Amino acid sequence: MNVAHPRVGVLSLQGDFACHRATVEALGVEAVRVTLPRDLAGCDALVMPGGESTTMLRLLQVAGLRAPLEAFVREKPVLGTCAGVILLGRGGGGLPAAALGVLDVAVERNAYGRQIDSFTASIDVTPLGRPMQGVFIRAPRLTAVGAGVEVIARLTAAHGPAPAGEPVGVRAGHIVGLCFHPELTHDAALHAWFLHDVAGLALPGGTAALTRERASRARE
Ligand code: GLN
Repeated sequence: MNVAHPRVGVLSLQGDFACHRATVEALGVEAVRVTLPRDLAGCDALVMPGGESTTMLRLLQVAGLRAPLEAFVREKPVLGTCAGVILLGRGGGGLPAAALGVLDVAVERNAYGRQIDSFTASIDVTPLGRPMQGVFIRAPRLTAVGAGVEVIARLTAAHGPAPAGEPVGVRAGHIVGLCFHPELTHDAALHAWFLHDVAGLALPGGTAALTRERASRARE
């Protein structure tokens, strides 16, 4: 069932929150900046952006957001990208506090090297039925994926230490984690899928994107 007038929170402590907000708004959905516990109230779903997971973990503590966020992600839809998936997962090394641990994946931070080793690569996205471009910025690798976790995106070709078919996107029920930045391309289909199919929200401006995908898939 779709929520008629959804509000989607974007965790906005640090990192690439502005592009996520713009993408959510481009799909006709109200986006709310989340910097304080009270901002989470009334959100139907949440996006946790890429950035620097160590900084975000510290700021969560300072803002008093850690406990409210833990409660939120246990029951409401959440999309974590890059640093966001590090926070949702079982934690990479070097974090100043425990990751939230709500997504059963083991994460290796900065697994492709330094900033200069960042790259763009083709990704096969199962729910879209087609490849899309993914931007990887000091990206993590998922070194173990738990039994209840579905892989929804894989690298089309090998890159650095990662073989072709490497999992770079996962879903466990209402939680989606991506190793790349879907907000840095002009392709909103993954956001549309998360909001519509995972979170069950109405997309006034965006079902066209999803419908187009499905129509072209059906023709193949
Ligand atoms: N390397 C960053 C971290 O460990 C993540 C990078 C990103 O979000 N693009 O937090």
